[in-house]
Amino acid sequence: MNASVSPRAIDEIAKVKDHSASNYAPLELVLESAEGAWITDVDGKRYIDCLSAYSATTFGHSYPKFIEVLREQTSKISIASRAVYVEGFGAFAEALAKLAGKDMILAMNTGAEANETAIKIARKWGYRVKGVPADQAKIIGAEGNFHGRTTTMISLSDDDIARNDYGPFTPGFELVPYNDAEALRAAIDENTVAVILEPIQGEAGVAVPDPGYLAEVRKITAEHNVLLILDEVQTGMGRTGTTFRFQAEGIEPDLITTAKALGGGILPVSAVIGNKDVLGVLEPGTHGSTFGGNPLAAAIGKAVVDELATGKWQQNSQDLHPVLFEPLRALVGRGVTDVRGAGLWAGVDIDPAIGNAHDVCEDLLEKGILAKDTRGKTVRLAPPFIVSREEIEQITNAFTEVIEARWQQAQSAGAAE
Ligand SMILES: *Cc1c(COP(=O)(O)O)cnc(C)c1O
Repeated sequence: MNASVSPRAIDEIAKVKDHSASNYAPLELVLESAEGAWITDVDGKRYIDCLSAYSATTFGHSYPKFIEVLREQTSKISIASRAVYVEGFGAFAEALAKLAGKDMILAMNTGAEANETAIKIARKWGYRVKGVPADQAKIIGAEGNFHGRTTTMISLSDDDIARNDYGPFTPGFELVPYNDAEALRAAIDENTVAVILEPIQGEAGVAVPDPGYLAEVRKITAEHNVLLILDEVQTGMGRTGTTFRFQAEGIEPDLITTAKALGGGILPVSAVIGNKDVLGVLEPGTHGSTFGGNPLAAAIGKAVVDELATGKWQQNSQDLHPVLFEPLRALVGRGVTDVRGAGLWAGVDIDPAIGNAHDVCEDLLEKGILAKDTRGKTVRLAPPFIVSREEIEQITNAFTEVIEARWQQAQSAGAAE
């Protein structure tokens, strides 16, 4: 695949390798521009974007309404800090809280920061409201989780690659197996203030728990006066076919964290959403962020919420769900071992007999489809909402061709032995 990389691309890649820390191993693809569901590289080759910046560009690139809001807001005021009021933040906070059926929000910038904030709120709630002795608060998470890259978030992780050489870690966390409500029940003690879970584990390969698991977790946490924090950074904002995933599960968490698509593919915007009885424990000076809730972020975030409030995008991803999933499911047993997901979000496990997920992503790139592997064996497909039925068919046709070619190859190699 590297053979087609042009001098401009080679130059960019070399500069990044020389002058940026190597904390990523990018695909050998250098982009120049993007619009809607399509991205274009420096050589003019076009690809359908099924990565969607890990769901940050769920509305597609340069969504016209958001660009309009961006122009309008930057012509007024972009950054001010929360030391003052700027018209617009209140409307954003009200709209986002309402979208989730809650009273209020706390605005931050990134997903990791939103989760850090939720952890702080839960601890404070534990001491002030639940009456847990000072510094004894315990928070339970799930094995295989991904909540971000800060020191505290990796303290909650069991991913060695994310943790190695970054200790010592933040105490006060315990992990239990995901999708095991009884293990969770057994881990709760009198000092437990919260349980934090992703309603579907994205980085773990779009791991969808059994029906009823989250409802059981909600029941157990309510019985023990323990907050339920749902990390909807990736699953939220319509990605799974409902505004938030918890709505599909028929439950109400105490705190919700959201980010990624909340920034409309324009800038980072994140928030913790909850009711006054929990978020109300914060007092001035006890938490903050220079950029959190800035006027530009508030304007874009409000525009994103307004789009989702119409319900049309959620309906669209439910309508397109079978168009994406049926052809993928037809490959199970012929190079694919499992297909999971919801809405326009699929995790496809590749049979090791035909290669790994990274190989499949390289083949897809050749066919003009950008997708990313996770944890070795899973290809994640997350096209933006504005994708058409025809574009989804292009994606699934390319996927089918790639898998069938590799399957044929594996069969004939097997026959030759
Ligand atoms: C991406 C992600 C995060 C971290 O968000 P950042 O903006 O990268 O800090 C946290 N939780 C989940 C579930 C995510 O997918």
